[in-house]
Amino acid sequence: MVISWLMNSVSKLIASSIMYADTTHKIWTTLKNHFQESNGPRIFQIRRDLVNLRQSQEAVNIYFTKLQALWEELAYFRPHCRCGKCDCGGNNEIEKHYEEEHVLTFLMGINESYSQIRSQILLMEPLPQVDKVFSLVAQEERQRNVGQLQ
Ligand SMILES: [Zn+2]
Repeated sequence: MVISWLMNSVSKLIASSIMYADTTHKIWTTLKNHFQESNGPRIFQIRRDLVNLRQSQEAVNIYFTKLQALWEELAYFRPHCRCGKCDCGGNNEIEKHYEEEHVLTFLMGINESYSQIRSQILLMEPLPQVDKVFSLVAQEERQRNVGQLQ
């Protein structure tokens, strides 16, 4: 949704300052400044959806897919390193921070019946990436389904 909204807005902007921006970083900054006033409500909406999202009756992969869609939208509003080319490691730090956020958000929303594997994951050092965490929980789900069939 945000992508089409951005693309529309970009095409309207092409005749103006964006044409003269020579790096993606500058383009991003131009866009961000242009839309700064209107970002608030959208960010609020996405974050509210995130806070309210729970696995409940869904399969783990459906829940994870919904989470990923919200994270993807929210990523447009993330801070970026200001060094421009990012060889300072700033973007990696930001990436790491959000990766951890995603793991914790995912674990908060899964059903309480997964509390045991959740505890095991939280004790892992370093915390695995969110794809890995998802596959661990999905694996647990598969084992349970197999157990029910027998
Ligand atoms: Zn940097």
